[in-house]
Amino acid sequence: MSMYIIGAGVTGLAFASALGRGKVLESAPELGGKASSYHVHTAVGKFTFDIGGHWFHLQNAPKVMQLLDDLPLEKHVRQAFVYWDNKWFDFPIQQSYKAHPDHRLVDQIEYELTAITSEAATKSRGYLNYSDMLLHSYGPTLFECFFRDYNVKMFGVPNLSQIQIGQYEEVRNVRTNQSIEGYNHYFYYPRGELGASAIPLHLAQNKQIHFNSHVQSINLHKQTITINNQASPWKTIVSTMPLPKLIDMITDVDRDIVYLSQQLQSSKGLILNLGVKRNPMHVNKSWVYIPDLKYRFYRIGFYSNVESKMAPEGYSSMYVECSPLYFQNQKEALNLVPHVIKDLMDIGMIEDERDIITLRPIYLEHNYCLPNSKVTAHIQSYLRRHGIYSIGRYGSWHWSSQHEDMQQAITLAEELDAVSNFRDMLGVR
Ligand SMILES: Cc1cc2nc3c(=O)[nH]c(=O)nc-3n(C[C@H](O)[C@H](O)[C@H](O)COP(=O)(O)OP(=O)(O)OC[C@H]3O[C@@H](n4cnc5c(N)ncnc54)[C@H](O)[C@@H]3O)c2cc1C
Repeated sequence: MSMYIIGAGVTGLAFASALGRGKVLESAPELGGKASSYHVHTAVGKFTFDIGGHWFHLQNAPKVMQLLDDLPLEKHVRQAFVYWDNKWFDFPIQQSYKAHPDHRLVDQIEYELTAITSEAATKSRGYLNYSDMLLHSYGPTLFECFFRDYNVKMFGVPNLSQIQIGQYEEVRNVRTNQSIEGYNHYFYYPRGELGASAIPLHLAQNKQIHFNSHVQSINLHKQTITINNQASPWKTIVSTMPLPKLIDMITDVDRDIVYLSQQLQSSKGLILNLGVKRNPMHVNKSWVYIPDLKYRFYRIGFYSNVESKMAPEGYSSMYVECSPLYFQNQKEALNLVPHVIKDLMDIGMIEDERDIITLRPIYLEHNYCLPNSKVTAHIQSYLRRHGIYSIGRYGSWHWSSQHEDMQQAITLAEELDAVSNFRDMLGVR
C-alpha cells in the first residue's frame, strides 16, 4: 500500500526530498503552489512575477539549507519603508518614528516605548490576543498610528482582539526590547529569471510528480483515496492542501471534526502584479508598508529591485497586496482593481496609467490563516490516528513562511522514517 503526498508546493516537495519516497499528487498542471512564478511577454520585453513577494527567510534552518544545497540563492538586505502621514519613513517604524516632524507625537511614542522596555525587563508577559500583543509591544500611540490599521488591512479583520496568538505571530513582530532587525532584515532569493519558483523546481529534480491529479475524496475505514475518479488503497497520506478542504473530502470523518474545521478562518487575498515603466519612487525599495485605511493596499514590493532579470530595462515588475477589508469574493476583488490603480497614482507609485504595460490580478481564497491552536491540535491528532499528516502553512493552518514549512516537512519525514525503521526491525509491516 502506498504513501501519497498531496501537493507539489514547497512543503510536499521538501517532504518527498527528505523521505526519498512517496507518490506526489498535484491537481495543477505545474509545480510550486503559492511559491510559483510566471512570465508575461510584452512589447517591451519579458516580466516575471511571483504570487506576491516570496522572499526566503532562512534564519536558523540548516536542514532546509542542505535541501537547497547548490541552488544559487542571493542574500539581500531588506530596503523597507513605511508610508505614514503622507511621508516616507524607514522600516521598522518603532525605530524611525523620530523623523516625524510633530515633536509632541515623537515624545509621546518615546515615553511609551521606554515604559514598555522597562516593564519587559522586569516581567515576562503572555499576550491575550493579537491586539493586546501589538498594544503592549509598541504602546497606544504607535498602535494607533501604524500597527492597528496596517494589521486590520492585512488580515481584513476590523477587531484585532479576535485574532489569537499562534506559533508564529510574535516572530513576525519585532518588539522594541529585542533585536530591531526582525525575521526579515535580510532574506534570500533565487538568482536568475525563474523567480521564487526556482525553489520548488530545485526540490522536484529527479522526482516523478503526478500533475493534473486531483484528489477528490479519502475514506478512512476502507483506506481508499480517489484521484481523478479512480480509487486506490493508501497507508499514509501527507497533505498540504488547506486543512478545512482536507476535512471536507474525508467521506467518513467524525461530525465533531467537521464542526471544528468549520471554525477555521483565513483572510482572502488579492495580489496585483504589475509591469510598469520605472519611476524614481521605485528605486532602492524592496517593499513598503502602507497603514492608512484610505489606501486599499497594505504592502507594495518590487521583484525587479531584488532580481533585475525580472523586468526589462527601464521597467519594474512589482506586486501590490490589496486589503480583504474591501472585498468578500473574487468578483468584488476584481472590481477593486481600478480603485487600486488610482490609489497607486495618489501615492506616486505610478505616474500615468499609460505607464502600465501589464496588469495581472491574482485572487487567493486563503492568504493568512487565523490561528486556532486548540482546534487544529484536536483535528491533527484525529488525522494522525488514522495515518494522515496535514502540514505546511495551509495544512497546519498557521502563519508560517516557506522555510518553516520545509523544516516541518523534514521533521515529519525523519519521524516517519524512524517509525518505519523500527517496524522493519520488529518485522512488523
Ligand atoms: C501572498 C503571499 C505572500 C507570501 N510571501 C512569502 C514570503 O515572502 N516568504 C515566505 O517564505 N513565504 C511567503 N508566503 C508563504 C508561502 O507561500 C507558503 O509558506 C508556502 O508556499 C506554502 O507551501 P505549501 O506547499 O505548504 O502550500 P501550497 O503552496 O499552497 O501548495 C499546496 C499544493 O497542493 C495542491 N492541491 C490542493 N488541493 C489539492 C487536491 N485536492 N489534489 C491535489 N493537489 C492539491 C495545490 O495545487 C498546491 O500546489 C506567502 C504566501 C502568500 C499567499
